[in-house]
Amino acid sequence: MSKIEKQLDICPPAYMGKGMNRENFVSTGHKCGYCKGNGWFWGTEEGSREDVRKPCPVCEGSGELDAIITVDWKPTNK
Ligand SMILES: [Zn+2]
Repeated sequence: MSKIEKQLDICPPAYMGKGMNRENFVSTGHKCGYCKGNGWFWGTEEGSREDVRKPCPVCEGSGELDAIITVDWKPTNK
């Protein structure tokens, strides 16, 4: 089992405009906690007794999730 640990450096970017500035970070390859990285569950189809693989509704079958981290830079109120 591999564990992903990432550290985010919070540092104001060199190029910013007036007022609020938004920065986005994307962290990929996080194991889906809902299906535990399988990407699917055993389920039953209506009208059938056979078990079928149903894709995980959270990760949509990929078994992994991407984390989108948004940082808003705003002037300090002093
Ligand atoms: Zn999942």
